[in-house]
Amino acid sequence: MTEGTHVPPPDSPQDRDGAAAAALELRSISAGYGASSVLHDVTISVPRSSVVALLGPNGAGKTTTLRVAAGLLKPASGTVVIGGNDASKAAPFRRARQGVCLIPEGRGIFRSLTVRENLELLIPPWRKGSDIDPAIQAFPILGERLGQTAGSLSGGQQQQLALARAFLSAPDVVLLDEVSMGLAPVIVDQIFESLKLLAATGVALVLVEQYVSRALEMADTAYLMARGAIAWSGPAAALDTDAITRAYLGHADEVPVHSEPKEKVTKR
Ligand code: ATP
Repeated sequence: MTEGTHVPPPDSPQDRDGAAAAALELRSISAGYGASSVLHDVTISVPRSSVVALLGPNGAGKTTTLRVAAGLLKPASGTVVIGGNDASKAAPFRRARQGVCLIPEGRGIFRSLTVRENLELLIPPWRKGSDIDPAIQAFPILGERLGQTAGSLSGGQQQQLALARAFLSAPDVVLLDEVSMGLAPVIVDQIFESLKLLAATGVALVLVEQYVSRALEMADTAYLMARGAIAWSGPAAALDTDAITRAYLGHADEVPVHSEPKEKVTKR
């Protein structure tokens, strides 16, 4: 997974020799849709094997940020670096090949195909010959429904099918856009358990999530977005979950920090 030009990060001696290049970095990204500018100078770093929570109210720009990272939206300016290599010009399939896996909001499964057919399609071309077992180990219910059409699965099962991509493509970083959206709490528990297993294998995760407390419980680092910009970034443990939940209701300007962080925190 070494396509692109190696780009040394600006100020990390560890990174200068390439040993600790982040799984994914967005550097000073500005992007939008047509004439509408949405992201303003967004910088995010996702270290290898880490969990990053990307939080903020509706319309803050979280989905847009993930789309830029995955190559689905070309930024007006800024750089996307995958595993230390400049991937800014790489098409989505190349970024997938380089280790970035996007689980989009709304699931993106083929409803008229069977579960088995969906799983087989989730195995990327460069892993042809591998089987669907890792997905079934992660989500045993899918193994019991292999012949059923995906559209006839429950909402939670459909989401598990969508998440199977992360278990079949051997990614370095998985971008998860509201994967718990609209699901019953017991199913959300199952989904988060599977994400913890995935993280335990060393895959980095970026969680865009309405269940703030669950995201912060798992996350090492958090980024708060407001109006297309990063309003705060720092250790997840420094954030006050209740205050962030209130921020979702529309008061995102106040940075809800409940304790002094142990590590460096960037306020912008
Ligand atoms: P939500 O939690 O509601 O999904 P978000 O933080 O993910 O919000 P985005 O979906 O990235 O936010 O949207 C950021 C802004 O970009 C919003 O003002 C939205 O209306 C706008 N936007 C998103 N997609 C498009 C599009 N395809 N065309 C034009 N504007 C868009």
